[in-house]
Amino acid sequence: SAAPLGSSVIPIVNKLQDIFAQLGSESTIELPQVAVVGSQSSGKSSVLESLVGRDFLPRGSDICTRRPLVLQLLQTKRKPDGSEEEYGEFLHLPGKRFYDFSEIRREIQVETDREAGRNKGLSDKQIRLKIFSPNVLDITLVDLPGITKVPVGDQPSDIEARIRTMIMSYIKQPSCLILAVTPANSDLANSDALQVAGNADPDGYRTIGVITKLDIMDRGTDARNLLLGKVIPLRLGYVGVVNRSQEDILLNRSIKDALVAEEKFFRSRPVYNGLVDRCGVPQLAKKLNQILVQHIKAILPELKSRISSALVSVAKEHASYGEITESKAGQGALLLNILSKYCEAFSSMVEGKNEKMSTS
Ligand code: GDP
Ligand code: MG
Repeated sequence: SAAPLGSSVIPIVNKLQDIFAQLGSESTIELPQVAVVGSQSSGKSSVLESLVGRDFLPRGSDICTRRPLVLQLLQTKRKPDGSEEEYGEFLHLPGKRFYDFSEIRREIQVETDREAGRNKGLSDKQIRLKIFSPNVLDITLVDLPGITKVPVGDQPSDIEARIRTMIMSYIKQPSCLILAVTPANSDLANSDALQVAGNADPDGYRTIGVITKLDIMDRGTDARNLLLGKVIPLRLGYVGVVNRSQEDILLNRSIKDALVAEEKFFRSRPVYNGLVDRCGVPQLAKKLNQILVQHIKAILPELKSRISSALVSVAKEHASYGEITESKAGQGALLLNILSKYCEAFSSMVEGKNEKMSTS
């Protein structure tokens, strides 16, 4: 599918949001942010783009991401005629809808230059972009500048320290999931990504290792041991991916074609046989989805108790009015009942008793 991230979680979240909407309360399901970290040109922006399934981020062999890009995906309803409308809107250009995603990329570049200059400068001022689409999960992704060591252009002499501080300000949040991106053609023991992620998340509860560029490893080497966690173990493990090369970008190769090529890459290399769950962008999306499901499961008890206490206060209010035909409390109890049933079904799904819920 075009947008692998969230596909299996969307129906679950939607159902829960519906329940809350009926109770008249705001959406309470806050999903964790996902941030990418790693050294410059490791493939961070490429990984995010593949996860979203759309082309819109500046990518390249030089420094491209020079300001944090906070990308908020927002689910919209499909139009009555079934057609889809996907567009982006920047915080700095309110009301202007970008239907052409390559224009979004251009605007990110223009806005980067405006704040950070045209000569490789960086700024920690965010660019905030919302993507509205019927095919996404309401989640926030953060694309961050990569770690570099040697100042170039307008960069200050302490560029490395500055970038690290900027990255830490995002990934130290306990609710932030970290995609630690390391290219397969560099030594994992030298990985800036694992190093900075390890500082923010020493126990590794929210760090996923992503190994990019499996297609351009030194001949005679492969990433099997990396992916198996035999080089540097990581609690949540690793996923290897093949993104588009610079040549693919210049040739305007689509994400869809790239995903097909990636699948073919893994299929044609016996060394990755048996590692299916650790290979490819769709597997990375699946891993993220599983983590999001776990997260929702973890917050369900709190959601339930919040509804219960809301009900108690509604009931009290109701009692103070005396008889009212349209009983809000009754309605609430009904919803609580639905939610409880839903939570049970949800838990059994998470525990793997049945693969899918009947929500879609
Ligand atoms: P970032 O600086 O970490 O955001 O990296 P980018 O996503 O901008 O990618 C840097 C360069 O590496 C671009 O030219 C990409 O085309 C290229 N690249 C990224 N991932 C891969 C990959 O898996 N294989 C190949 N061959 N090139 C890649
Ligand atoms: Mg980038």
